[in-house]
Amino acid sequence: MLEVRDLSVKYGNFTALHAVSLSVQPGEIVVLLGANGAGKSTLFRTLSGLQRPAGGTATWKGTALTGGKPEFNVSHGVAQCPEGRLLFPELSVEKNLRLGAYVHRQDRAGTERGLEQVYALFPDLIAKRVAPAGSLSGGQQQMVAIGRALMARPQLLLLDEPSLGLAPLVVEQVLAAVREINAQGVSVLLAEQNAFAALSIAHRGYVLESGHITLQGPSPALLGDD
Ligand code: ADP
Ligand code: ADP
Repeated sequence: MLEVRDLSVKYGNFTALHAVSLSVQPGEIVVLLGANGAGKSTLFRTLSGLQRPAGGTATWKGTALTGGKPEFNVSHGVAQCPEGRLLFPELSVEKNLRLGAYVHRQDRAGTERGLEQVYALFPDLIAKRVAPAGSLSGGQQQMVAIGRALMARPQLLLLDEPSLGLAPLVVEQVLAAVREINAQGVSVLLAEQNAFAALSIAHRGYVLESGHITLQGPSPALLGDD
């Protein structure tokens, strides 16, 4: 499981995360709800080994994720799909996906199997294999970004605001794919601003406000009364 305990992150004198504690059990989809600037990306960068915490711990199946070596985290089963997708827009869809496997040192057979799985999950991408990633719609680019993270064959997927800037119907499509990824055995920590969309697929969630976890519980409880 993912176990985050009293994790604090500072940028200079500014504390972006205040002793954050949360967990993701194997098989769960857990949503992290928070407005812009709450600290969602900071948490994800820390869990990806890109940002050193000022205090606290974060482990996946007992292995510390905070050593500051992103490749280590990926090789131990934790992959991030960053906010804003961060594709190489001039490279083809398939090259972007292959880069995911290359960076994560998959062998040839693993790469081909990974591609098959990504195309099975996102059939819309099959016709776009050789198209420059930058020419795709926002929703399709998000699919490529998720696919690229899956090429690392993660056990835990950190998904940072996949619905950002997408139309509601496209958001549903992306979240349906997340549910399918989860059904295939991948645990998911999903950061979102939009409570309704995210909670529809999550088992549990946390609310993050100005770097503090202020609420946690099963999905319906987080929607509140009004
Ligand atoms: P979210 O992903 O929830 O929008 P972020 O983690 O990006 O939130 O940001 C949390 C807070 O930390 C914000 O106040 C933001 O301005 C600040 N912040 C984020 N990254 C940096 C950075 N590299 N240097 C300084 N402040 C940062
Ligand atoms: P890295 O992630 O490569 O370590 P930084 O920590 O400098 O780089 O920045 C991480 C991300 O946060 C970047 O996308 C950067 O543009 C953004 N960022 C930097 N400073 C701030 C800030 N004060 N508020 C919000 N976002 C910031």
